[in-house]
Amino acid sequence: MTVLIFNHQTGRMERHERQPNEALPYAGGTLSAGELRGRSDSEIIWTDRRALEAWNRTRTAWGQPIYVGYAFRRIGEGGHADQSQHYAGVAFDVAQNLPLEQRDRLRELAASLGVWSYVEPKSLTPTWVHMDARQGPPACAAGYPMLREGSRGVYVATLQDALNTADITGMAVDGVFGPNTRRGVVAFQRQNGLNPDGIVGCATWQALTSQVNGVLRRTGEYVFTG
Ligand SMILES: [Zn+2]
Repeated sequence: MTVLIFNHQTGRMERHERQPNEALPYAGGTLSAGELRGRSDSEIIWTDRRALEAWNRTRTAWGQPIYVGYAFRRIGEGGHADQSQHYAGVAFDVAQNLPLEQRDRLRELAASLGVWSYVEPKSLTPTWVHMDARQGPPACAAGYPMLREGSRGVYVATLQDALNTADITGMAVDGVFGPNTRRGVVAFQRQNGLNPDGIVGCATWQALTSQVNGVLRRTGEYVFTG
């Protein structure tokens, strides 16, 4: 399988080929490609070096393996709200296997380390710990950031995959917003009565993600075609 990793130190999307049982870079050898892919069927997944480093810091501070119940998912595979950080490959749902008290300790630890952008409070997810390394600011009140030509990273890969699922086909899923991605965005905007400016802001994200969410699950079409 292919793992795209946005490296914020170089500004580049890295491409790594991995077997599902092989360790990912930047995670101290404690997270495999298959663990990050989780229940997704995709042959290509994407994440961010900061998310892997946050994982490694958390895992090191915890001092023992952390069970990952759920992580990456494509928007078309559904199962979340339209703009979940799981679709961007930077969110982990962990510790489903732990007794309540230990899980609460892990949640407090994850929040106290300061390496995650968001750790969901116990009141929302009492039976697992959700932690993510989202990058902002969001284009709407919540969700994904504004993207335009020149943007790079996990949200661009998420966008390209969603455009392919929305039948704006021919997007290479590489996390780099170039002229071809811009053409795809403009085509989608025209088809949906949006201002065709090629910039993915609040209205375009909302139209695209709500249209694509769960589509592959409904049609049984899980094979990656991008
Ligand atoms: Zn989650």
